[in-house]
Amino acid sequence: MEVASPSFPVVSPAARLTDSHGRVIHDLRVSITDRCNYKCVYCRTGEGGEIYPELSIEEYLRLIRLFVDLGITKVRLTGGEPLLRRGLVELLQELARLRTLTGDPLDLAVTTNGHLLDSLAGPLKAAGLRRVTVSMDAVDAPTFERITRVPGSFHKVLNGIRAAGAAGLTPLKINCVLMRGFNDDQVEGFAHFARQEDVVVRFIEFMPLEEGRLWSPQIVVPLNEIVARISRVLPLVELPAREASETARRYGFSDGAGEIGIIAPVTQAFCGACSRVRLTSDGKIRTCLFSQIEHDLYGHMREGESDAELRSYIHRTVQGKEARHHIGEPGFLKPSRSMVHIGG
Ligand code: SAM
Repeated sequence: MEVASPSFPVVSPAARLTDSHGRVIHDLRVSITDRCNYKCVYCRTGEGGEIYPELSIEEYLRLIRLFVDLGITKVRLTGGEPLLRRGLVELLQELARLRTLTGDPLDLAVTTNGHLLDSLAGPLKAAGLRRVTVSMDAVDAPTFERITRVPGSFHKVLNGIRAAGAAGLTPLKINCVLMRGFNDDQVEGFAHFARQEDVVVRFIEFMPLEEGRLWSPQIVVPLNEIVARISRVLPLVELPAREASETARRYGFSDGAGEIGIIAPVTQAFCGACSRVRLTSDGKIRTCLFSQIEHDLYGHMREGESDAELRSYIHRTVQGKEARHHIGEPGFLKPSRSMVHIGG
């Protein structure tokens, strides 16, 4: 059966993106800038800033549309810090008009540090954004600002989170990267924060994707430890996964109020269920966070290739997606870009 939508050429479902390991790829993450207004100690060295060029909003739109033609149903805009990007609201307005192969609106999301969310939550919602994930690595201001290295950032982000909730950008997810010796004392505080602020707090195991050299197996705070520590103060019950490719293990509090999640790419890798592909701010496809090579989709576009040729290039590229990452294994190589320049 062929599925048509008013704005796209007819695409056979057989053309949907799959890789050579049988995984269906339906989740696209797009970095729209590698600039960031924070210098989080576990992400950036504090030196330098952007490295890679940005495309125009029209160019991102054309590239994203190609992926949607191939069965992508979820688009997450990220960076760098995506709220720094001029044209974000207009890009979301256009993305909200696209339809998936089954005729549904895209599942549109943004990952942000929340610094500018206070004033942008309303316009983003009005543009068609459905939900937002805010990164927040501590619930006390001094620890938070030691990590971001930006004075006053804690209250800016807290206000941003509350504005996002008020604008209806829900369910509101808060991502916290835990690192031993930096913020591992925040675990229990975050459990209370999830309930007080009515947000889903998701702890993420730290991965070797930083600009500097901070990562070691010892700095990772593993899933089991997080669950055990929260359970001591607020009993948890594990919740069923909503979909096979869900990255977070979900837990509710035993009294039914609130939820936390744990994303454990290091101690409990979920590569077998990966449904993601990434587009960098300069238009390169990355088939894995830990890829050693990139695929210059934008280069092909600049050479004047047609949409059909570009779709075929995307298809071939995604076929070669890596089976899994090799964090912690002998011979592990850090990827060619750090997280801030890939798009988390
Ligand atoms: N600036 C936005 C933000 O702060 O959410 C989007 C980009 S940021 C690179 C995306 C996410 O990646 C953030 O939640 C950040 O904490 C996370 N992140 C950065 N480096 C990481 C690492 N080495 N391991 C795990 N997560 C990391």
